Amino acid sequence: MKKLTFLFLSLFSASAFAQDVSEERVRTVISTLASDEMKGREIGTPENDKAAEYIAQLFKENNLEYCTGNSYLVPFNYKGKTAYNVCGIKKGKSEKFLGFSGHFDHIGVSNKSGDNIYNGADDDASGITTLVGIADYFKNKKPEFSMVFMAFNGEEKGMLGSTAISEDKNLDPIYNNLSALFNFEMVATEAEFGKNTVFITGDEFSDLDELFNQNAVNGLKIHPDPYAKQQLFYRSDNVSFVKKKIIAHSISTADMSKIKHYHEANDDMSIVNSKNMTQIINNFAKTLEKLSPKNFNPKYNDKVKFN
Ligand SMILES: [Zn+2]
Repeated sequence: MKKLTFLFLSLFSASAFAQDVSEERVRTVISTLASDEMKGREIGTPENDKAAEYIAQLFKENNLEYCTGNSYLVPFNYKGKTAYNVCGIKKGKSEKFLGFSGHFDHIGVSNKSGDNIYNGADDDASGITTLVGIADYFKNKKPEFSMVFMAFNGEEKGMLGSTAISEDKNLDPIYNNLSALFNFEMVATEAEFGKNTVFITGDEFSDLDELFNQNAVNGLKIHPDPYAKQQLFYRSDNVSFVKKKIIAHSISTADMSKIKHYHEANDDMSIVNSKNMTQIINNFAKTLEKLSPKNFNPKYNDKVKFN
């Protein structure tokens, strides 16, 4: 009887939550990217290539299609060498796309003694983990929107990867249909608004947050940017797409008023709140499931500067 009850409960919980991304999965992806073996994923290093290949492998597991050519790896020139962004597509019911991005590079290692590896768990392995989690969630589903997943390189050296891929003409068929880009930048900690919340940069420039919140499930909420004075909207990878007049905002949970790990060696797994991350990823994905070109068509107002 005991065994039967256990079996029943296991089957029940497996089916009830079959579509949810597990916290274990979230921890696996973020801890692999933020491991010491990745040596801080600095652009131009073998470990940066290794991180790109790992993300491509995750895209393959999720049956994503290539964005261009015959690989998820989209090359660009970095100081005379080839570096890669990573890009994959999930076809939905509509030709219209939503985009999800983050940057996988970080700032490498220092010459200091002791812990000299900048693991970049929050910045921005957490963002990559979030977009991978969304791809996980939709693996066996057909969403209303088509989806493009982009892992940018070279953000820390001046948003090089996002600049390159945003100017890549081979991706114009996607960009011409891109309704909005969500760029996840540092989402590993609890936001100052509490669990299950994020903030969006440049909230005053479009109605994206209002439209999203109208459909948000399970209490997930996008808050306005509390650090608007820092102009984060113009300082992250989303700006490469703002220049193209595509709706593109960064989503974050970083508490900029008291953050102690930004570009420090202690930005590692010890500061990651994987439970909160997992909840946000699943609620974000469930909200996306409700969005279609009919109820989600965000627009800029005239406050935004495109250059
Ligand atoms: Zn970053």
